[in-house]
Amino acid sequence: MAKSIIKKTGFVLLLFLIVSCAKEKPPRYVIVIHGGAGAISADLPDSVKQAYISGLNEALSAGEKILQKGGKSIDAVEAAIRVMEDNPLFNAGKGSVYTYEGKVSMDASIMDGQGSKAGAVAGVEDVRHPISLARMVMDSSEYVFLSGRGASEFARTHQLETADSTYFFTPGRWEEHLRKLREGKLGTVGCVALDQQGNLAAGTSTGGLTNKRWGRIGDTPVIGAGTYASNKSCAVSCTGVGEYFIRFVVAHSIADMIEYKGWTLRQAANFVINEQLKRAGGEGGLIAVDRNGNIAMIYNTKGMFRAYAKSNGERWTGIFAEKIKRSAKP
Ligand code: ASP
Repeated sequence: MAKSIIKKTGFVLLLFLIVSCAKEKPPRYVIVIHGGAGAISADLPDSVKQAYISGLNEALSAGEKILQKGGKSIDAVEAAIRVMEDNPLFNAGKGSVYTYEGKVSMDASIMDGQGSKAGAVAGVEDVRHPISLARMVMDSSEYVFLSGRGASEFARTHQLETADSTYFFTPGRWEEHLRKLREGKLGTVGCVALDQQGNLAAGTSTGGLTNKRWGRIGDTPVIGAGTYASNKSCAVSCTGVGEYFIRFVVAHSIADMIEYKGWTLRQAANFVINEQLKRAGGEGGLIAVDRNGNIAMIYNTKGMFRAYAKSNGERWTGIFAEKIKRSAKP
């Protein structure tokens, strides 16, 4: 009798061990980035595709390096976005599109899910890294949101690198401006991350829409619309036609659905992008990570430049609806 009880208990223990080993452990860290969503042509020449892919990979690695060493998600977000702000392929920093007046006018925001701290800037014309300016607003000012001349003055006070209009001249963007394209050129950049301490962070940076007028500001620097992070739920960075993302307060809505309705990250992101926004005619997408390391990369456009990496070695980069193949590091 006693023997059989011991046998049964042993069997149950073994079963428990097998089940708990099979259950995937949450990753220790996760980083996801985007380089804009929109009508990306399927005929994009291979060389251009490759250039985007390597631009994304470079940014991803800059952020991942920080997370690997146990660094903070907010630092990883800033580092990854700075790399994309220096890459003229993306519509942020150096590669920003031109306004109706032929100038750059950049917006950026960053949010730390630990303590709900945030910083944002809008209409900045002369700062090399708007994401770092947003970070500086968060860390070293009593405000959350600065704009225009005042934001530049704040950058100078804090010795952030400034740049004149020659730095922001890129022939391709100028050509778009001359052709008076109204719709946004793709390439807004964003990053979300979960670090080894369990803290979430999100950031987004953009030149906005091509030929925008009258000081137009999109969703990118609006906390809760284009960017949001809370350790209680998730971190989100959006891209697309900003007016819709502001009207539907996209990033914050997703966090609320998770925190108050118990939805999964994917359910919430999918609902907002593919139902709410789509019904209203809003085009775009988002990247997000929740506190358990689940990710979402959802868009209702032809494509979205995007990539992610996890502590377990999973790494992926893509543009269109490619099947995600889990691969080891390239
Ligand atoms: N959301 C950005 C804006 O409206 C543009 C974009 O993501 O392409 O300014």
